[in-house]
Amino acid sequence: MPKENKDEILESRIIEGAQENEEDIVLNISLRPHKLSEFIGQKEMVENLKVCLTAAKQRKEPLEHILFSGPPGLGKTCLAHIIAHEMHGKITATSGPAIEKAGDLIGILTNLEKGDILFIDEIHRLSKVVEEFLYPAMESFEIDFVIDKGPYAKTIKFHLKPFTLVGATTRVGLLTGPLRSRFGILHHLDFYQIEDLAEIIKRSAEIIGIDVDNEGAMEISRRARGTPRIANRLLRRVRDYAQVAKIEKVTALVAAKTLDDMGIDKAGLDDIDRRFLKLIIEFYNGGPVGVESLAASLNEEIDTLVDSVEPYLLKARYLKRTSRGRLATKLAFDHFGIHYNKEKQEEMF
Ligand code: ADP
Repeated sequence: MPKENKDEILESRIIEGAQENEEDIVLNISLRPHKLSEFIGQKEMVENLKVCLTAAKQRKEPLEHILFSGPPGLGKTCLAHIIAHEMHGKITATSGPAIEKAGDLIGILTNLEKGDILFIDEIHRLSKVVEEFLYPAMESFEIDFVIDKGPYAKTIKFHLKPFTLVGATTRVGLLTGPLRSRFGILHHLDFYQIEDLAEIIKRSAEIIGIDVDNEGAMEISRRARGTPRIANRLLRRVRDYAQVAKIEKVTALVAAKTLDDMGIDKAGLDDIDRRFLKLIIEFYNGGPVGVESLAASLNEEIDTLVDSVEPYLLKARYLKRTSRGRLATKLAFDHFGIHYNKEKQEEMF
């Protein structure tokens, strides 16, 4: 499927964590926490990061290269900006697929000052050549640049200022060993607790000037798939509804009505999640079934299913991934009110 089509599908999906339209981008920037103390949730990681930042500041050295992994919309980009802010450095942001050749990186790298941050999103999508070009830059802050070809080829060494590379990936398993080993700090971001998400929603509501009570924030939070980006997006939809209906305070009832109307059910599942699970349950008798077959039947990209649909369904225990394929759990059967026959399911497996 061409990339544009894939993006259109992702954009049409309100609970999609990865893709953003222009309005979302502006909103996300205004809602982005700037300091580590404003970053809600992920307590253990925040504590760890605080220690690393303080130690680096005390030594007056840049922070070690750091890799954030985890599903889209959990705050990886946010953290890169926070690190730059905390280290008083400037941030240059790019992404794996945007760097086509090693040459694209020379200008970026040579412009970095001591303590600056180079943020590479989707770092697992760097080409092999670009990745290898990065190794000496990460390890000893120098790059080798070859000019001319054949017998006239000459290697010029550039010395770089000590910078920090912050990488982000949704697929840490696709990172090569040599690249991964060059990061001094690795953090995996997991889905947020409902209470943390509710706090993020309240903070965002205050920034965009909408009155949401505790129960309202909890209702949105329960349907936001543990993902701050989705929580903020749902909040905006609820705000639109409240504005048109001239409702001053967003209560649980108001939030539930808006989200129900949008097809986001109590568990936070949307149309594609439900089609995905129902296909496994009704067509493949609960599974196991390969993701390729599911993608073909749903007319979706395998990557969309693996990156954006499955992680939350796995986490919420609606889905199991086994060596023989995907399996719908009893919880998924119960969600649709379909009888779960334990013996039959065990037999299938
Ligand atoms: P990722 O890079 O992992 O896809 P982002 O860093 O772009 O995710 O986060 C998406 C949005 O979610 C941010 O713009 C910010 O508004 C919000 N956000 C993410 N994490 C937090 C957090 N811990 N506290 C408050 N807001 C957050």
